[in-house]
Amino acid sequence: MQSSRIIWQRSSTSAQCPLCHNEQKNQIILQSQHFLAERGYLDLAQCSACESAWFPEATAKNVSYPPIEQVLQDPNFVYLIHHYLEIVNGLNWKVPMLERLPFEQFNSVLEIGCNAGVALDYCRTLWPAKEVIGLEPSAYGVIGSKVLDLPILASYLVEANALKEKQFDFIYATEVLEHIADPVQFLQELKTQLSTNGMILLTTPRAEVLQPQTAPGELYAALSTGSHYFVTSAQQLEQLAYQAGFSYCHVEALGITHMAVIANQPVQLKPAQNQAERIYEYYKRKTHVDTLYARTHLGHLLNYHQQALSCTKPIEPAIITEIEQLLKQYFELDLQAPEAFTQRLLATDHLISFGRLMPYSLPFYLTAQAQSQTDGGFKEQVYLELARLICLQGLKTDFQNLFVYHSLLEQIEVALQPFAQLNLDQPLVNELQQTANQLHTKIPELNQAVPKIVPLKKALKKHTKPKFYRILQASFTKLRQQLA
Ligand SMILES: [Zn+2]
Repeated sequence: MQSSRIIWQRSSTSAQCPLCHNEQKNQIILQSQHFLAERGYLDLAQCSACESAWFPEATAKNVSYPPIEQVLQDPNFVYLIHHYLEIVNGLNWKVPMLERLPFEQFNSVLEIGCNAGVALDYCRTLWPAKEVIGLEPSAYGVIGSKVLDLPILASYLVEANALKEKQFDFIYATEVLEHIADPVQFLQELKTQLSTNGMILLTTPRAEVLQPQTAPGELYAALSTGSHYFVTSAQQLEQLAYQAGFSYCHVEALGITHMAVIANQPVQLKPAQNQAERIYEYYKRKTHVDTLYARTHLGHLLNYHQQALSCTKPIEPAIITEIEQLLKQYFELDLQAPEAFTQRLLATDHLISFGRLMPYSLPFYLTAQAQSQTDGGFKEQVYLELARLICLQGLKTDFQNLFVYHSLLEQIEVALQPFAQLNLDQPLVNELQQTANQLHTKIPELNQAVPKIVPLKKALKKHTKPKFYRILQASFTKLRQQLA
């Protein structure tokens, strides 16, 4: 999809593929904006031999983490931790992957690049492993280890002296490989830390998703211009594992990323399953864990609520009471009278000011809570309209970091359709609706036309509006008549 941050183009380049070293017939396929916008645009090249893509200027232009001490002095940093814990921790895609492994055999687990440590905390809480350790060179690990009371070392693997003599039964690193200039060397380091029968799980973005029709949020995530070196193809990922000396590598596509299981012997994976109930179990246990931070506790309650509903488990009324009390106490948000809140919401202009106002997971709560109401009435509609407004304001404020609101927004708009006929004519609902409609027009990513390059079949899949179908069908019928 064409957007100002990504410009599709084609031109030849003599740059060498850093993964397979091919120099022939490589092409620049797009330019994308550095996450620090003032650093301009970087070319993305694609290899004609292994089909991986890479940023030829990455070494000069990629930005490494700022010093931890400096970050920790920033009072706003904690909001990025909340953002992570509340909405982007990735359990919904990591857990189904982790649960496919024979985790009953793991006595020790090492996660590299564990961020604030939610997935690692999941392993500690639900797996029998006696020892779990995380490595995280950014300030996320420092705060995460406090908030979740987890052993996280603020270090890169090569510098982690405490781990030098250790070997682990299971090592995993999600979305790490692409941040490393020399991936084979990294895989070799992992090999020395792995026990004889151990296994490694990696994820890394797929070169296969670098297409104009990929949703913008997914494209930004796969590219992460300014921090990724390359985006590998499946075949090349396998080659990297063999070059590092492993004898087994299994690669599967998982949405926008590859999942690779790498070992010194074949690994029997369990069948892929939706593991929503395991995540539910995790959050259920977390609701009973004392935490130093009230907001972390509220985040756990909200995640538990959402997970319980998605597993059709009953929710204790006390949980809802506690959530709504904490929203009043810490955010001055009364869900029964949200007018003052919506004024503050519309004044947000940054991911931080947005997160200062409410938990990032709030629109998910409102949507789930509305859909669990059975009266189909006013409160349900207010919750949905408010959730819609929050999503829109979030996408307008920071589409890249709040892109999970995009699919929630679509879900909310479907849930609101039956209300269009009801015409309840409530001033609050009307006000919320109008404000939301105005916001909708101001978000470029929501108002883009389908680019011409999209094959017709794919365009049809994306645009399921009956009107679009009817027009198309009518023109096909006309064409057929003319040809006959
Ligand atoms: Zn290549």
